[in-house]
Amino acid sequence: MSSSARRCASSSAERADVPAHGPVAGPAALIVVISGPGGVGKGTIVDGLVARDPRLWLSRSWTSRAQREGEPDDAYVFVSRDDFERRLAAGGFLEWTEFLGNYYGTPIPDVPSERDLLLEIELEGARQVKRSGQDVVLIFVLPPSREEQHRRLVGRGDEPGRIAERLRKAEEEEVTGLDVADHVVVNDELEHTIDQLLGVLALERSKRVGADQP
Ligand code: 5GP
Repeated sequence: MSSSARRCASSSAERADVPAHGPVAGPAALIVVISGPGGVGKGTIVDGLVARDPRLWLSRSWTSRAQREGEPDDAYVFVSRDDFERRLAAGGFLEWTEFLGNYYGTPIPDVPSERDLLLEIELEGARQVKRSGQDVVLIFVLPPSREEQHRRLVGRGDEPGRIAERLRKAEEEEVTGLDVADHVVVNDELEHTIDQLLGVLALERSKRVGADQP
């Protein structure tokens, strides 16, 4: 790791000081963060949300993780650790983290006006975005059970060692997630979950309509 990247990467306390990057979206736009443990179905939920809500603008993350077999090429921008660190040192991420040994980060987005930025990220990054002082709604998604989460991780082709690690990590993430989230949703049935989330977005948007009026 380069020294400048190490300066940024050395601890989550330092990450708390990641500078706010000014407005990343139009003044009326929301930042919607979907977070939750691995295998909870965030990717599928986000695809469903984008298909049904044209106002959402989905950011594509960078990662140093290797592409999984069968994973679409556009799931991430797949980069080397060096490339990630170069962008990090140049201040090119809205948030970032190192998760189970790989880097993940949201490039500073260029959100079209009238759109809401949608992020699908883990909790440390979600907390950085919340701390940025922008208008953020953090939604934490839980699996219906640990057994179901395990089944989904196996189904998407994670290796057994990786699965055990992700399930262990999920225990920690759930404690923090329940504490910091604005809304918590259990992903028991996909269409039902998406309906619930669209309801949350409608509620949050309605709270902001006319909020600037005297
Ligand atoms: P996976 O390796 O399963 O694709 O992702 C591992 C974790 O990283 C997931 O919880 C996923 O939501 C999260 N993640 C994906 N992109 C980003 C990102 O840009 N920033 C952060 N902080 N987490 C991300």
